[in-house]
Amino acid sequence: MKKVYLDHAATTTIAPEVIDAMLTSMKEDFGNPSSTHSFGRQAKSSIELARKSIAKNINATASEIVFTSCGTESNNWVFRNAMDNLQVKRIISSPTEHHAVLHTLEEMTQNSDVDLVLLKILPDGQPDLVQLAELLAEDIKTLVSLMHVNNETGVVTDIQKVGELCRQHQAYFHSDTVQSMGKTAIDVQQLPVDFLVASAHKFNGPKGIGFLYIRKGLSMQSMLLGGEQEKGLRAGTESVHNIIGMAKALEISLEQLAPHRAHILSLRAYLISALQEHFPGFKINGSIDGFYNIINVMLPFAADKTAMILFHLDMKGIAVSRGSACQSGSISPSHVLAQMLSEDDLQKPSLRISLSHLNTQDDLDYLIEALKTV
Ligand code: PLP
Repeated sequence: MKKVYLDHAATTTIAPEVIDAMLTSMKEDFGNPSSTHSFGRQAKSSIELARKSIAKNINATASEIVFTSCGTESNNWVFRNAMDNLQVKRIISSPTEHHAVLHTLEEMTQNSDVDLVLLKILPDGQPDLVQLAELLAEDIKTLVSLMHVNNETGVVTDIQKVGELCRQHQAYFHSDTVQSMGKTAIDVQQLPVDFLVASAHKFNGPKGIGFLYIRKGLSMQSMLLGGEQEKGLRAGTESVHNIIGMAKALEISLEQLAPHRAHILSLRAYLISALQEHFPGFKINGSIDGFYNIINVMLPFAADKTAMILFHLDMKGIAVSRGSACQSGSISPSHVLAQMLSEDDLQKPSLRISLSHLNTQDDLDYLIEALKTV
């Protein structure tokens, strides 16, 4: 059966160059990076080269990069640290964040003396930055946590502006950049941000590895206790081959950024015009100029098609999703779309289609043909 993968916001394929680099690392860097003998030193040296490469790619210094197991861990760590170590009294975020942020914040702030404030969401899916400015004018020690690119809708938040507001009011700023890292240039010398989160499997790297950027000078307390790995910031033997794979994946994603982006943008335009032709009345959830590889569309089908549409596409070998992968098995409407759509529209089938440089117009033709038979 033909297979078409259009769910790159959930995860991506591992680039062949990344697999090669990881295989080499698995064969050659098997020593424990904390061992002082030559085997350990070799593994240590490989991870430090990877750290330097990642730092260079976002214009940070190597000491500002800490390896973690995933985006979820990094987000958890930033919030734990903000509450216990930086003594923030308020966290401002938004109800359209990924559950790795939203559920974590709800859980951590419950029964604590830290207030959680979720910004209003405007009809285009943007958090209300006027409300943010008003809140920041109050004299309360605050962490702001706003994602760069929404994983369900591709809505892009102006994190430059958010960062500037935070600087103006001495608030800490954390951004979940899991969907944008490797897909757009990020320069931490230009961007006023304190913490950035990345996960390798979203940019053609392996699963189970991520990194946290922590601006120099910020105090950080370890969340995982134990050994002295990562300068005592994160205990646990480093996943050397995954770290090597992540550095390689970020390097090639950014090297290929311009051609990949151009290719994906042309597919996006093709998809929108095909939807206009075959499904007049379809709507884009969010905005037409959302992030280039994610498009969330509401199809002009009856509400009773909602439950079976993904199954129908899956039977034809097509992978798309309704929301984030973590909730795609659930039939409850997406918490992100619930902030943006009317009750009626929420019942209609919406699909997240997320593209990569590996997709072709054929893939999109196949999707359109399959949708015609729903
Ligand atoms: N944040 C966003 C925006 C995501 O899209 C995801 C993954 O879907 C995560 C966080 C969680 O990342 P990880 O799978 O590495 O824990």
